[in-house]
Amino acid sequence: MLSITPAVRLSVGLVILTISLLILAQALGLAPGVERQQLDVRKRLAETLASQVSVAITRGDELLLQYLLESSVERNPEILSAAVRHNNGNLVAKTKTHEKEWAGAEANESTPTHIRFPVMINGAKRADFEISFEPLLHDRHPIFGVPTFVLLLIFIALSGFLGFWFYIKRALKHLDPSAVVPARVRNALNILAEGVLILDRREQIVLANTALLENLRRTEDNLLGKKASNLGWFVDPKSDDVQYPWIRALAEGAKQTGARVLLPSGSEGEKIFHVNAVPILDPKGQAQGTIAVFEDITELEGKNRLLEDMVQQLAASRAAIETKNKELTYLATRDPLTNCFNRRALYEHLNGKFDGARASDTEFSCIMADIDFFKKVNDTYGHAVGDEVIKMAANSLREVVRDMDMVARFGGEEFCVILPGAPIEQAQLIAERCREKIAAQVTNGVRVTGSFGVTSIRMGASSANQLIQQADEALYYSKQHGRNQVTRWAPGMESLIAETQH
Ligand code: GH3
Ligand code: MG
Ligand code: MG
Repeated sequence: MLSITPAVRLSVGLVILTISLLILAQALGLAPGVERQQLDVRKRLAETLASQVSVAITRGDELLLQYLLESSVERNPEILSAAVRHNNGNLVAKTKTHEKEWAGAEANESTPTHIRFPVMINGAKRADFEISFEPLLHDRHPIFGVPTFVLLLIFIALSGFLGFWFYIKRALKHLDPSAVVPARVRNALNILAEGVLILDRREQIVLANTALLENLRRTEDNLLGKKASNLGWFVDPKSDDVQYPWIRALAEGAKQTGARVLLPSGSEGEKIFHVNAVPILDPKGQAQGTIAVFEDITELEGKNRLLEDMVQQLAASRAAIETKNKELTYLATRDPLTNCFNRRALYEHLNGKFDGARASDTEFSCIMADIDFFKKVNDTYGHAVGDEVIKMAANSLREVVRDMDMVARFGGEEFCVILPGAPIEQAQLIAERCREKIAAQVTNGVRVTGSFGVTSIRMGASSANQLIQQADEALYYSKQHGRNQVTRWAPGMESLIAETQH
């Protein structure tokens, strides 16, 4: 509803002034009224009749006189009766009801209901012409029954208030801003590239600089007096703020920075503003208004988003490359049939590890394993079954070794296991478990056994190759001595092999 704003107060004052003037005009008789008009009409009518009556009396024409009186009553509904009274008080001529109608007349005066005119003959008054009228119409409104003048006052009070209030409100809006912001300040603000709004205590706009008007495609007239929060923009829901920064600046009396305000702008999507608001404080420290500065960051945000997308795409392709690289490394180091490391990976790994173990004087063991009479499996059951048997042997090895050990396919059905940190006894135990595992399994109806050779760095190998060779010699020893067994390398085994081969 209406609050008691200056516009309301001014409007009420003006209405009271107007009504007072109307009442004064009425009192001074300046206002035209129905009663006055009625009286004027009666006076003129009486005058005309009086002059006709005096003619009839001068002629001595009694018939004409009687006719004049009666016809005046008949033709004018307002006239109730008429008569001519001789100076001696007798009625010379009259309409029927005249005595009765004339009863209320004043002695020597005319009143609005009883009018008398002297009838002059030869310059001397001979008689009076008397007319009695209906009582004057009361000046009231036919529907509301209230005196028309009161109705007029009520109408002026209501319509005048609305008219004045609307006009004054608009006038104040246009008058205020120029009074608040001096032209020099205005010019200075118009030079800025950022949009600037100056708001009063009620967050109504008192100034919008050129940059902001151009950005919003509005005219200053269109914005002045409007509340800054009612321009169709809203605080970015993704930000922590819930209130417009200018409202916070007014409420808290402190500078607000970094707010994001979004303005939907049709086909262009939405504009994004970075808004800072500074309160305008009075000497008591109360906020009397705000200056809000708008930086249009729509384009910047668009570029940022593009950049973010690109960074994301880059990260995604880097991850894809890393995965591919891992796959490639896996493929390059593995044997496709058994998924064990291949011979090349074995040597790459072994050389470094062997030298490390030697330098730190730690344990380092090696097992060589080979399936017994494997050619026969291939020959009897076919190559495919042979493959399954090779896979079974690989799995058996992997199941018994530790996580840190490395199982590699050395040749066709020959495997090499590297056991860093394991002494030869442990390696022998692991080989023994594997031998039992292989011997216990039936693969596609085939049961096979394996032979094992074990050695460790403590046996004196000076290189990774020599270590493997020792394990191979021990394996050969197993083959020579009945297969399906584990042999620990011992010095002198190389000569033993040489002997058997001769
Ligand atoms: P020994 O007990 O002395 O070891 O006898 P053996 O028959 O197992 O002899 P050797 O170890 O020399 O046999 C290797 C055979 O393994 C030769 C080859 O035909 C076969 N072979 C090698 N690679 C594969 C393979 O990938 N799949 C199959 N099915 N057979 C293979
Ligand atoms: Mg074999
Ligand atoms: Mg072999």
